[in-house]
Amino acid sequence: MILRDCAGNLWVGGVKGLFKERDGVWTSYTVKDGLPHNEVTALCEDTRGNLWIGTRGGLARLAGDRFVSFTEKDGLVGGRTRCIYEDRDGDLWIGTFDSGLSRHRDGQFTSYTTREGLFNNGVFQILEDSRDNFWISCNRGIYRVSRKQLNDYADGKVTVISCVAYGKPDGMLSIECNGEQQPAGIKAQDGKLWFPTQGGVVVIDPELVPYNSEPPPVLIESVMISGKTASFENGVVLEPGLTDLEINYSAPGSVKAEYVQFKYRLVGLDDQWTDTGRQRAVRYSHLPPGRYSFKVIAANSDGVWNETGATLEIYKRPYFYQTGWFFALCVAAFLIIVASVYALRVQRLKANERRLTRIVAERTAELVERTEQLEVANDKLKELASLDGLTNIPNRRCFAEFLHQEWMRSVRSQTPLSLLLMDVDHFKAYNDTYGHQSGDECLKRVAAVLNESIKRPTDLAARYGGEEFVVVLSDTDKKGALKVAETIRSRVETLRIPHSESKVSQYVTLSIGVATAIPRRESGMDDLVSAADQALYRAKENGRNRCWEESEAWV
Ligand code: GH3
Ligand code: MG
Ligand code: MG
Repeated sequence: MILRDCAGNLWVGGVKGLFKERDGVWTSYTVKDGLPHNEVTALCEDTRGNLWIGTRGGLARLAGDRFVSFTEKDGLVGGRTRCIYEDRDGDLWIGTFDSGLSRHRDGQFTSYTTREGLFNNGVFQILEDSRDNFWISCNRGIYRVSRKQLNDYADGKVTVISCVAYGKPDGMLSIECNGEQQPAGIKAQDGKLWFPTQGGVVVIDPELVPYNSEPPPVLIESVMISGKTASFENGVVLEPGLTDLEINYSAPGSVKAEYVQFKYRLVGLDDQWTDTGRQRAVRYSHLPPGRYSFKVIAANSDGVWNETGATLEIYKRPYFYQTGWFFALCVAAFLIIVASVYALRVQRLKANERRLTRIVAERTAELVERTEQLEVANDKLKELASLDGLTNIPNRRCFAEFLHQEWMRSVRSQTPLSLLLMDVDHFKAYNDTYGHQSGDECLKRVAAVLNESIKRPTDLAARYGGEEFVVVLSDTDKKGALKVAETIRSRVETLRIPHSESKVSQYVTLSIGVATAIPRRESGMDDLVSAADQALYRAKENGRNRCWEESEAWV
């Protein structure tokens, strides 16, 4: 093939490379210069001034003095280039011997083969008519394809392309077109297309080729539900268990019916139309319950669509468990369970609360009782602490407190206060004779006499220590005190507790010292005790078993 480019270079392609003539000088180019193959099969200068070279092993573009090559690795549909055609939009179309058609736009290739709906993978020559249809020759005839459809496919608008093929019935003597040498066809100035074939040249006048403006009729032919033919005049109803639905449709009576294309859409499930090409059946295997509208539309071989198409109403009946009622029941059951669990929980919490309240009440009562017991025990302890362990009458500590208290009272009231200090006579001898236990018994009896002898609540009898006792007589003068002392002394004597070793009597006796004072000052209490002690000493001195009153002017 030969081409004169805009710059005036003459390019000649041959089996051994590419040759350029300029000003009588020839330059040759081979794979060494970047060509993908030495056998050049097609040449094309595009409107941008690029020179494209088709070879047996790919496509090349001249860049300066070298070539950039494109092969299958770069997205080209095949290596054996047959033709290169630039359309009026500037897209480059590359035909191959038997691999299909490539579109080149913005450095990207799109492939078209019989898989995408091309009539044949042979693309020997591409001629374009005034209606933007490509007429392509191959060794199986000549076929027509809409350039718009090819571009739509590249843009993803359709998934399949359709071609109309022409052969012997249309007047071709041979369907085998030539393509070895380029050009393998030309478009004459009158718009007629010329293609060489094995049986001679074929001339096509595209203007005379009838254009079918009639949209094809669309018909739903049959419906199968789970493998069984179903009547569908008023739509179809799928029972809950039946999930498999097959719909067969067609475009009966249309011209070149095998080229009719279909699109369908299941309204209610699909958002978009599905391009099925020439397929005439669709199958749904797991249709969810609900109402659907199946729509199928078709286009004739010239791409004229019957947009109304055919419609089939479908109702897939739900199982009870798929219905709103069932859902509502489930929700109600769930709510009842939740409410029951809640009520049970509240009941348990309340029971727990009641139990806790009862326990708290019981423990509180127990505590109160214990506290009361403790108080009683405390009182007892206090009492015990102030009583003498042997005789059970107040002890010396208690006496000291009582005396102090009465002393202060007497200071305020200026009334006499008397103290009797007494001691068992010859008690050591008693112990020695009768034993210590008898001594204790004796002391208890003496203490009992003391207790009986004091009548007034303001009087106190206490054990002073050992065999010594003391009596405090509040508001009692010397005379009264002596009287009480004498009563005590004689009562002890009257007990007639035998004391064989006593030097003053055959019975146990007491010596008592008496002291009386009208206290003038808060101190001086000890002087009263000393005075009583002194008197006791005198009583002992003067023969024991007697009362002695201290008559010193100590007060
Ligand atoms: P006096 O007449 O001079 O008081 O002679 P006394 O023997 O009573 O005097 P002394 O103080 O020498 O002896 C007191 C004795 O009292 C000594 C002890 O044996 C006895 N005694 C003291 N306290 C107790 C006691 O709690 N129980 C007994 N059984 N005897 C006691
Ligand atoms: Mg004594
Ligand atoms: Mg004594």
